[in-house]
Amino acid sequence: MEKGVLPLPLRTQMPTSATMSAAALSDRLGRPLHDLRVSVLDACNFRCSYCMPAHRDYTFLKSEELLGFAEIERLARLFVALGTRKLRLTGGEPLLRRGLCELVERLAPIEGAADLCLTTNGLLLAPLARSLKEAGLQRITVSLDSLDESRFRELSGGRGELGRVLEGIEAAADAGLAVKLNAVIRRGRNDRDVPALAAYARASGRSVRFIEYMDVGTLNDWRPEDVVASGEILAILRERYQLVPLAADYYGEVAQRFAFADGAGEIGFISSVSQPFCGSCTRARLAADGRFYTCLFAATGLDLKGPLRAGCGDEELLELIRARWTRREDRYSELREERVKAPQRVEMFRIGG
Ligand code: SAM
Ligand code: SF4
Ligand code: SF4
Repeated sequence: MEKGVLPLPLRTQMPTSATMSAAALSDRLGRPLHDLRVSVLDACNFRCSYCMPAHRDYTFLKSEELLGFAEIERLARLFVALGTRKLRLTGGEPLLRRGLCELVERLAPIEGAADLCLTTNGLLLAPLARSLKEAGLQRITVSLDSLDESRFRELSGGRGELGRVLEGIEAAADAGLAVKLNAVIRRGRNDRDVPALAAYARASGRSVRFIEYMDVGTLNDWRPEDVVASGEILAILRERYQLVPLAADYYGEVAQRFAFADGAGEIGFISSVSQPFCGSCTRARLAADGRFYTCLFAATGLDLKGPLRAGCGDEELLELIRARWTRREDRYSELREERVKAPQRVEMFRIGG
């Protein structure tokens, strides 16, 4: 992985009063609680081998085990009261959750949550895009690992249809949603797709972010040699394009971004393996079963659904969240070398990417 690693632009290292709310709660490493990712269900209509390998069996939550929309709204409001400014709906595949627009309608008016977005594999997006926008969604991130039809299908565990996903992306843009694309690049699987994905970013004027393959969960048989470091991808693209590094837009931005010197579109790198960004990680995660996680690589989460359903008041729930965040010391990606064999870890499709 060291081979071909190039310097990427630096991130802003510390929050400033201009970028963070005064109310923001800090963890033990001084990181504010700024983002909440809400997984709305654990099921998915794809079987990407880096997340939910198709040869394994899965048991999904029953509907009564899922947080209801009113429960999600209540918890989201509490997180916002503690300084959260960005809400992202994810999964599993969030568009499989029945009535999702109603949840968006509930979350969009929350005062203080400046940003409401959603991550999806895009298969079901085309017919839903306009309603999501009308419900108050602002931005959408679509996972797009290849622009080759048969490879796309294979990468999704035989379930994806590239044409439908591309239609979904266009429908989202037509509806007025800001659209970004995410591609997880793995050696020998889709690294050859990098130039086409960059060309797509240029042609469409959209942002494509290349994500390093991570050792999340316990099912994907991750090997370091399968990771294509961002520096390697940058080197390939610099042979074709003049790329200009862009400054971080805000504290805690995970992508390091580049513009094409001569045109529209943008590419970004999310380099959690080669350049971990735990030092500025401001993300909390609420799993579909109501567990609150402070790291993507955590073994356990704090149950909020139990206390909520047992009738706890807002103050008690706030105290649970506050106590967990202020004790937070997670920095798995920085410690990866020593922790890589940690036996217990939540799965990405349960916690939300
Ligand atoms: N199903 C939706 C989707 O795929 O966009 C949302 C949930 S998915 C878990 C969120 C993101 O996590 C996706 O962009 C996916 O590519 C990414 N992801 C899943 N497993 C990953 C891994 N092992 N390494 C890096 N990214 C991963
Ligand atoms: Fe499903 Fe997203 Fe995981 Fe792929 S990455 S299996 S689309 S949850
Ligand atoms: Fe944040 Fe954990 Fe990822 Fe580090 S490893 S960036 S603490 S989620």
